[in-house]
Amino acid sequence: MTADDRRDVIVVGAGPTGLAAATLLGQYGLRVAVVERYQDVYPLPRGVHLDDEVYRILHRLGIGEAFAAHTRPAAGLRLVDDRHRVLATFTRHGATPAGIPQANMFDQPALERLLRDRLESLPQAEILGGHEMVRLDTSDAGSVGARLRRPDGSTVDLRAPYVVACDGANSAVRGQLGIGDDDLGFDQRWLVVDVRCALDLDAWDGVHQVCDPHRAGTYMRVGQDRYRWEFRLLDGENASDFEGIPDLRPLIGPWTRTVPDTGLELLRCTEYTFRARVARRWRDGRVFLAGDAAHVTPPFIGQGLCTGLRDAYNLAWKLAAVLRADADPALLDSYEEERRPHATTMIRRAKGMGQLMTGGGRIASLARRHLIPALARSQAVRRTLLDSRTPPLTPGTRISRSTPRAVRGALLPLVRLAGPGGEPVLVDEILGERTTVVALPGTDLAAVPGGHPSAWLTVDPGGDGGERLLARWLLDAGVGWVRVDPDRVVGAAGPARWAR
Ligand SMILES: Cc1cc2nc3c(=O)[nH]c(=O)nc-3n(C[C@H](O)[C@H](O)[C@H](O)COP(=O)(O)OP(=O)(O)OC[C@H]3O[C@@H](n4cnc5c(N)ncnc54)[C@H](O)[C@@H]3O)c2cc1C
Repeated sequence: MTADDRRDVIVVGAGPTGLAAATLLGQYGLRVAVVERYQDVYPLPRGVHLDDEVYRILHRLGIGEAFAAHTRPAAGLRLVDDRHRVLATFTRHGATPAGIPQANMFDQPALERLLRDRLESLPQAEILGGHEMVRLDTSDAGSVGARLRRPDGSTVDLRAPYVVACDGANSAVRGQLGIGDDDLGFDQRWLVVDVRCALDLDAWDGVHQVCDPHRAGTYMRVGQDRYRWEFRLLDGENASDFEGIPDLRPLIGPWTRTVPDTGLELLRCTEYTFRARVARRWRDGRVFLAGDAAHVTPPFIGQGLCTGLRDAYNLAWKLAAVLRADADPALLDSYEEERRPHATTMIRRAKGMGQLMTGGGRIASLARRHLIPALARSQAVRRTLLDSRTPPLTPGTRISRSTPRAVRGALLPLVRLAGPGGEPVLVDEILGERTTVVALPGTDLAAVPGGHPSAWLTVDPGGDGGERLLARWLLDAGVGWVRVDPDRVVGAAGPARWAR
């Protein structure tokens, strides 16, 4: 093996998770090879929604501004019954403090194109398109070998200290390592329909969930002229029963009455089996699973791709820190500790939404008709459903258990602060790639565990806009400082009594 065959990290799979992981690693200056069996972006639409936390990751990947041209905000969520009577509407009123919408609709191939272009702009990173990873060699204690089949059928070997397997739901790496998964108990066949239409459909501009045990469905506007429906298939039905718009009319009719068949271009109509599963282990020595290779979810709350990007974001800085000898390799244990419970929670939420739409028979439908409007009037339910924040990460190797609960494992709120020229910039741009202490004025930084931090940011409650919001967040949590890692997760915090 020559130096040419060595990398710092090999990433298997150039889906959104692999591209995001490799880009972050490349931004840390690491030599990364992404092995992808296809030559180019997988052209068919799948994911259509991402939340503000994941949009924040896109900014860190350097494609936040470019993504803005490919996305539109969704107005919220509406639950309707089998006759399309509104049960409840949860309207999202605008954006987060940094101006990022909570729900963002997009087309997955367009996002993957942006991710690819960004990765290809990094000198240390490369995509080996048309290369299939056929076998990993994990026999060496210090590195992992990957045998690849080139487009001409010949093979080539690469070696790296770490491999990140982002090779999708049927992960060959997971299979080779003999890692099973926990079945969270969801298995349904759904029809996925993508349509282009130049006319506006006469429909409320958010996500519609049809709560109907006979024919549950989802509708959403994805782009200026792009629409997505998903319908549960009945026994004996399959995608070939719905080959054209006239076949689909009985399903999409409630949203498309005002548009003639000629105004609706069917882009794709296909069947997916929605499952809820989590790999039992996310790590085997120097190999990590991420994205759909580690978890699959029904798409009802639009979190599959989001979860993969969160994995990549959590793992990349830790790998970089360990490879640069800035952190103990034990830090890598925190990846599974933190990400597995979080992913499991998000899958359970998706499953819950699926059950709300599909569960029970006529009696359950009647109950839903009365219960959902009543629940929707509760402020607590509205707050929970409209809050796009996901749960905090589990404490363990990285996140100190003694950190006050209000901030432990939480993300530092995304705000805009004054940049070098006074212009508003995202706080993440100011924090950069370091671990930073964010503190109220007067905090005794010498009292922060681990010694005087090399980077800190002081936020004054009397400051402007974003600075005041961050200070308020610390005060409300009853802390004077938080330690924020490069993934913006709070790993430690200290009491407010140190603050003035
Ligand atoms: C109908 C539908 C709707 C969805 N809606 C949403 C949504 O709204 N929001 C959301 O967040 N998610 C959504 N998802 C989920 C989302 O599409 C997936 O979670 C996401 O694509 C997973 O990304 P990934 O990179 O982990 O895996 P993949 O996208 O599957 O990528 C894996 C890559 O690995 C490559 N590969 C596999 N094996 C090898 C090998 N041996 N050698 C080389 N390359 C290999 C594959 O070719 C592929 O390119 C939806 C999914 C579906 C099906």
